[in-house]
Amino acid sequence: MKSKIYYNQVSVGGDGPITVQSMTTTETANINATVKQILDLQEVGCDIIRCAVPDLESAKALQAIKNQIQIPLIADIHFDYRLAIASVHSGADGIRINPGNIGSKDKVKEVVKACKEKNIPIRVGVNSGSVKQSFLDQYHGLNAISLVESALEQVRMIESFDYNQIVVSIKASDVRLTYDAYRLINEKIPYPLHVGITEAGTMLNGTIKSAMGIGALLLQGIGDTIRISLTDDPIKEVVIGRKMLQFLGLRAYGPNFISCPTCGRTKINLTQIAQEVETRLSQCKKDVTIAIMGCVVNGPGEAKEADIGIAGGNGQAVLFKKGVVIRKLRESEIIDVLIEEVDKL
Ligand code: SF4
Repeated sequence: MKSKIYYNQVSVGGDGPITVQSMTTTETANINATVKQILDLQEVGCDIIRCAVPDLESAKALQAIKNQIQIPLIADIHFDYRLAIASVHSGADGIRINPGNIGSKDKVKEVVKACKEKNIPIRVGVNSGSVKQSFLDQYHGLNAISLVESALEQVRMIESFDYNQIVVSIKASDVRLTYDAYRLINEKIPYPLHVGITEAGTMLNGTIKSAMGIGALLLQGIGDTIRISLTDDPIKEVVIGRKMLQFLGLRAYGPNFISCPTCGRTKINLTQIAQEVETRLSQCKKDVTIAIMGCVVNGPGEAKEADIGIAGGNGQAVLFKKGVVIRKLRESEIIDVLIEEVDKL
């Protein structure tokens, strides 16, 4: 088991739950816009938020932002170690630095000193696009070993300053490379791992890459906090991250929907019913399984296993609850009755 760190009140690693995090897309210095986006992300279940800190104005803005949000805020720092120190002074709950561009050992030492005074974690975030040239030369280009060695150098440096509040990420845009790198580093360090596929792309491609890469790692027990990286609204990153954890049985976040793909036997508008039920229950927090099945071939079996479910017939359906047939429904009543029954559970 990995060590446990705390971003304010939220733990990462150890025996704690796997957390979902995202990153704001607003200009951090635009306090109102950033707060609004974070509150929206909180609402859909974001556990930890990260903001880019490209300049001193952004670092200073963190204080006002923090005062208006509930979840921990991590400052994302590239190039200028002084921005990390300024972010710590503004009350950031964690710092992310990139070993490929933060500079000399003395600069890292200053960042560690500031974090140590407030006992806030440092994430060493290696990206495939910013591995130091010396590692690429030594390990024959970009591969799992050069990625891992790049991260380890920074981890060892932070340790040498007698600090161990460390989280590590080691992301590539290539799924297999990311997977290999995380497996390798997982064997070498006791620190919690922030897992993700970087620059994974737009909604469809990014979701698939993330599901494969992060999912494969989580199934092996690797990963303590996750970020889905999408060229899209970060709300979607959080929703997808939560669903990933839910479908792996790692966290419960509301209903689990089961629905069949439909076929030539389907005699009700199952697609519309499934979509409508899912939309209407999008705010539901109950840990229930809802089966929406097209016919009696597989329908009753799935619907019986679920907390609530239907198996369709010709313009009608049979309603099951906890494995027991409750009643027959006309097609037009299926959606409303399913919602009512979930409310009663
Ligand atoms: S449950 Fe019935 S309708 Fe749905 S795909 Fe299977 S056989 Fe077809």
